[in-house]
Amino acid sequence: MTRPSAERTRVRDRLLDGTRFLVASHARPDGDSLGSQLALAEALTQLGKEVRVVNADPPPARYAFLPGAAAIEVAGSVEDDADTAVVLECGTLGRTEVSGLAGRPVVNIDHHAGNTGYGAVNWCDESACACGELVFELIEALGAELTPSIATNVYVAILTDTGSFRHANITARTFDICRRIAGTGVDAAAVAARVFNNGSLGRLRLTGRVIDRMRLEADGRIAVLAVDEAMLRETGCEADDLEGVVNLPLAAGDVKAVILLKALGGGLRVSLRSKDEIDVRRVAVSFGGGGHRNAAGLTVEDPASDVRARLVRQVAAAIAESRPA
Ligand code: AMP
Ligand code: MN
Repeated sequence: MTRPSAERTRVRDRLLDGTRFLVASHARPDGDSLGSQLALAEALTQLGKEVRVVNADPPPARYAFLPGAAAIEVAGSVEDDADTAVVLECGTLGRTEVSGLAGRPVVNIDHHAGNTGYGAVNWCDESACACGELVFELIEALGAELTPSIATNVYVAILTDTGSFRHANITARTFDICRRIAGTGVDAAAVAARVFNNGSLGRLRLTGRVIDRMRLEADGRIAVLAVDEAMLRETGCEADDLEGVVNLPLAAGDVKAVILLKALGGGLRVSLRSKDEIDVRRVAVSFGGGGHRNAAGLTVEDPASDVRARLVRQVAAAIAESRPA
């Protein structure tokens, strides 16, 4: 099911040439960024390379069980004479929020539309359901052994980035990779339970509160969710406990898109979700963010009072544009 790719070959050759690696991904890591990093780091180590895995933020608790997660270094900058930096799952180098990576050739592997091609070598494939899918193919191309721990990490990347096998970009390749993962003995149900059924009661209460305060816009086609520090405090939660909440309103047939406003700390972080052909990535990009057609995000450092209204207007326009005239 692997498709021929000149970019993948160039990336493979560059990795085979390197000896000391920094493997980084985006700030506020998720299942795809962590699974991809840890899988690739293990494969490179198998090949006798020295590898440091570096992120700006620590892994959320639900991902602490990922094989190799304990070795992740948390740092806002790196000083190292490693000969190669591999940056996974980042549309821009800035998404790492780790400075100093570019002091050596960067290998850029990603599946986000609009990736800026910041690497010395770039492999960006929007058709991949997760960066982990690309990493799996790369590991195979490198000739590394598919161990149960690599398989677990790639499985978490795919499971989470497909929204438990519900999103777009799931292909025969996705299932072919998962079949091979299951072949290593990975217990898919047990992995899913660790990721999804291991949260706190506070998280459940926070979810209820956020949904209870949902507002509908554009004749009920847009659901707007809002969270502030007080809601987290009252439920004993952290920002990471919001993971997945943004998808819940899509369960209603009439809701076509979701805007989640997170007023936590300094700026306003916004998550956008949509169904089918509705392109919320373009909305995110117009605010300086990015992502995918159906899942995108942005940060407004200094939110003006009309940000909510502008987002609603633009998302409503995206819904209107997605309909055949
Ligand atoms: P989230 O809503 O944080 O789950 O992110 C959804 C998608 O949008 C992911 O693919 C993120 O990588 C992307 N994304 C989120 N925030 C930003 C941002 N500030 N800039 C660029 N991409 C983002
Ligand atoms: Mn991803």
